[in-house]
Amino acid sequence: MRIGDIELIALSDGVAKLPQQFYIGLDFASHPELLSDDGRVHIPIGCYLLRTGDTTVLLDAGMGPRRLSWGEGGALPAELAKHGVAPGDIDVVVASHLHTDHVGWLAVDGVPFFANATVRYGHADWGEFVDSAGPDDHTRNVMEALADADRLQPIEGDMVTLAPGLTARATPGHTLGHYCLVVSSGEERAFLLGDAVECPLQLEEPDFYAMSDVDPKLAARTRELLWRELEGTDALVGAAHFQGLEFGRVMRGTGTRYRFLGG
Ligand SMILES: [Zn+2]
Repeated sequence: MRIGDIELIALSDGVAKLPQQFYIGLDFASHPELLSDDGRVHIPIGCYLLRTGDTTVLLDAGMGPRRLSWGEGGALPAELAKHGVAPGDIDVVVASHLHTDHVGWLAVDGVPFFANATVRYGHADWGEFVDSAGPDDHTRNVMEALADADRLQPIEGDMVTLAPGLTARATPGHTLGHYCLVVSSGEERAFLLGDAVECPLQLEEPDFYAMSDVDPKLAARTRELLWRELEGTDALVGAAHFQGLEFGRVMRGTGTRYRFLGG
């Protein structure tokens, strides 16, 4: 996928298998297509590789080499290698937010995994996910390892340029320090939504939300603003947990307004 001069590749670190209760307010009787045979919703643990000018950027760092009751990561290094990228080639890693399935590979066994990368993340997430976290918390350990290695550069405010053509857009709600990444080159744009939108169905059914939303009301308002901005435009849309990590567009009008490309 190219956005003007910027190369954009979706990668998955693994799969999360979420119980139906995770989707608060969603009527699964009307949406059996979302369920796998085990009665759970299987979603990718998405990351995005971007090449802009001489800079190689990774958006989100997956679950890492871990197996939890609800999901399993570990695929990201091999996925990067398929595209000729070694961990040391990454210049900047952006964590859309500090949930555990987005920071997994940032540090492994207390050592920064992307040896040469600066790690950008929303400053507003630090209090909840590091300061207030227990001593054995995974995110806390990862972020403290990066702080010790002097790798962190927090993002504050809105519309922060992270690399040529890559802008961090403040989109609080899923977490208070959540950022989307806007990719723009020439006339073309893509919005990588992180977890600001959990599932494209939230466009047509705005009342359901993920159990992991820290501030569900704020998250709903942020989604509404994003949809309004995107609808009827040519901007490509992707998000960390959309099925197949397929890109789509937001259509104007009624009915199914989120169209996967080629789908
Ligand atoms: Zn997530």
